[in-house]
Amino acid sequence: MDVDRSDQQYRIWLKEAVRQVQADANRSADTHMLRFPLPEHWGIDLYLKDESTHPTGSLKHRLARSLFLYGLCNGWIRPGRPVIEASSGSTAVSEAYFAKLTGVPFIAVMPRTTSREKQRLIEFHGGRCHLVDDPRTMYEVSARLAQETGGHYMDQFTYAERATDWRGNNNIAESMYQQLRKERYPEPAWIVATAGTGGTSATIARYVHYCMYDTRVCVADPENSCFFDGWVNGDPDVSCERGSRIEGIGRPRMEPSFVPGAIDRMMKVPDAASVAAVRALDRAIGRKAGGSTGTGLWGALRIVAEMLAEGRTGSVVTLLCDPGDRYLDKYYSDEWLAREGLDILPYTAAIDTFLATGSWPS
Ligand SMILES: *Cc1c(COP(=O)(O)O)cnc(C)c1O
Repeated sequence: MDVDRSDQQYRIWLKEAVRQVQADANRSADTHMLRFPLPEHWGIDLYLKDESTHPTGSLKHRLARSLFLYGLCNGWIRPGRPVIEASSGSTAVSEAYFAKLTGVPFIAVMPRTTSREKQRLIEFHGGRCHLVDDPRTMYEVSARLAQETGGHYMDQFTYAERATDWRGNNNIAESMYQQLRKERYPEPAWIVATAGTGGTSATIARYVHYCMYDTRVCVADPENSCFFDGWVNGDPDVSCERGSRIEGIGRPRMEPSFVPGAIDRMMKVPDAASVAAVRALDRAIGRKAGGSTGTGLWGALRIVAEMLAEGRTGSVVTLLCDPGDRYLDKYYSDEWLAREGLDILPYTAAIDTFLATGSWPS
């Protein structure tokens, strides 16, 4: 018996699609490592890896590239068949970009409440938005659409961790270590990430262990998310009721791409603290970022304070995940804060006091 399914036309198409994705990466420069100003004599340096400068504006550009390469090389993405994703946000925007690049149709399955701006960005890149009334049905609707159309359900929450080459190949972690080579503390004491799929923290933690670094990895989790409880209690079945107010991070279930065993530490961050931190970032470096950047920055500042109190020197790295201009009517709006019942003043005062005096108010 011998079955040969090789298809010359398909292989020509596949080569061209892979070339397009790799050429896009080749045209792109690495993202910057920014410094958050701290008093020199503290002997502690704080950095933000600025993921907002990718062509589609967020760290999801890396994920979408990895998922497309994974899907193409696995033979899952086929010419003329749609790629489908369950996403209310940045992942769909970045995937729409790569679908256009490779010439396949793209459908984003998203809640009807998704902002018009996000829908507009997806359509701008040639994608189509399939709106559902009940957000909980996004996953089954995506799977069903894939079945009906012969398309491929990308499923970021399952495949994010395995689509990325965590051993290197210019992943976000390798790039961080390369960029810190000439710093006074080139091996960070801590890297603080946040989790949506969990893929970024998994890639960073695995890379640290693979390269035998002493760096510790912390994941900062927002208010409405179950990653923290699931990690602390070792419970993969936890769930939480309310959706996260911090866009891009915080999930109602333990996603398969979140790899708890690789993470050293987790921190629960109040949403008001995330907003206070992201506004403090704007005052410190003149850059607006999204809410998840504030969650990570709050965690990183807490760790800097700890190191300072213990008389330790070293560096700490966190991420600038996406630009704040997507959220001017949210994290930068006092009316929105009032509507949500968020009081950022105590957290703003804590950050200002810490940066001025070096002591973290208890
Ligand atoms: C997805 C996302 C994250 C978290 O990254 P994961 O790798 O999915 O855990 C953080 N911030 C923003 C804005 C995101 O879109």
